Amino acid sequence: MKYISTRGLSEPRSFKEAVIEGLARDGGLLVPVSVPDFSSQLERLKDLSYQDLAHQIFIPFVNGELDEKTLKQLINASYQTFNHKNITPLRFTESVAILELFHGPTLAFKDIALQFLGNLFENLLSSSGAALNIVGATSGDTGSAAIHGVRGKKGITIFMLHPKGKISPIQEKQMTTVLDENVVNIAIDGTFDDAQRIVKDLFNDLEYKDQHSLGAVNSINWVRVMAQIVYYFYAAFRFREHSPDLPLVFSVPTGNFGDIYAGYLARKMGLPIEKLILATNENDILYRVITTGQYKIQQVCSTISPSMDIQISSNFERFLFDLVGNDAKEIRSMMGELGSKGEFKLSPGQADDARKIFHPVRVNTEQTLATIAKYHKNGYTIDPHTAVGVAAAEQSPFNSAICLATAHPAKFGDAVIKATGEEPDMPALLDGILTKRSRCQVSSQDLIQIKGIIDEKLSTQ
Ligand SMILES: *Cc1c(COP(=O)(O)O)cnc(C)c1O
Repeated sequence: MKYISTRGLSEPRSFKEAVIEGLARDGGLLVPVSVPDFSSQLERLKDLSYQDLAHQIFIPFVNGELDEKTLKQLINASYQTFNHKNITPLRFTESVAILELFHGPTLAFKDIALQFLGNLFENLLSSSGAALNIVGATSGDTGSAAIHGVRGKKGITIFMLHPKGKISPIQEKQMTTVLDENVVNIAIDGTFDDAQRIVKDLFNDLEYKDQHSLGAVNSINWVRVMAQIVYYFYAAFRFREHSPDLPLVFSVPTGNFGDIYAGYLARKMGLPIEKLILATNENDILYRVITTGQYKIQQVCSTISPSMDIQISSNFERFLFDLVGNDAKEIRSMMGELGSKGEFKLSPGQADDARKIFHPVRVNTEQTLATIAKYHKNGYTIDPHTAVGVAAAEQSPFNSAICLATAHPAKFGDAVIKATGEEPDMPALLDGILTKRSRCQVSSQDLIQIKGIIDEKLSTQ
């Protein structure tokens, strides 16, 4: 399997090259030239454990670049850190099924990909003897999951940027209390989009990228998407055992279009998903592009689901590439317009095609809080991101849906208290975290200053 850039100006890459490279050198995103078709293998896959299923799904994407035994070991090690034996259990409530994706070490779905990516990086570096300096931007959950994925790992240093004061106190502490020498936290004055832009600028400075061996853990990294495909299959199989005749509909709270893009790929790989409900909060650029065909950047606003407070949705470019029939020239022109005018348009036919797959729903804060309150009353507390997806499913025309629970409610205690008047139960993992020793640097959103922080850290190694 080769990986090509959505902008068509980079050489195709192998799997390992794609993992290390992150963003393609022409500024595009790497996508596999084709996806494997599993439609005739669903029977064979349906009773596998989560880890064995992951193995089967990864094999064609890894394409023999890791031997099967090594791949299996990496997968097993990655999910050993989860505190549920099924890794992503499916729970049935009265109205919807909830896919719990928060049983990893940082209590959000990003652990599922980043535990594996951390182990994969370490394996690739140990065989090449190279070093990798990861630079990432986080709206809260990616950062802690990435830091926990690579902390203490040989050959890797991680620089994680977050928007100062715009993530929850627990999210912040989950990053800044990791005191391993290879972890550098940077709080920038600005929004998540500013942080993400800095990271993109660093990667687009090819000379700097090469000199500093920069690598990516943001969902621009292909492995993030690949690892997330697994739980769509796993959940579909559990759902079918429970409700053999209901259509498969997933509801996905989304910001950067990473999680839901994995669902799109699962569908393309032959999982019979009828619809993907695309659930946004007030930062609704994805809702707007699917309903109107116009992708237009507006101001980001802060909400109670901060991990989705995003206006520039990186992974959407991967889907667009499919939508325009893999025409890299068209992607370059769309992205050019986005850069110069802050918007681009889909053709009416393209928007129709997108709506065949995605059902967009925008959920406001009031609806989110009401949904948390309602589920809490029924004995199941959900976090505000999960609540956006659940509220979207309830508003949609589909009367059964698998809702992705992307974070543990304790990560977003303020929103839960606001909705229910009660504090969510604290998992043991978070005991005492708010008072632990922490370390973090503050920076303006100036590229030179960020480069200075990176250079200073690397010069001491
Ligand atoms: C990252 C995140 C999301 C959004 O996922 P995307 O892949 O960016 O769409 C939703 N909920 C939580 C809790 C997250 O951490």
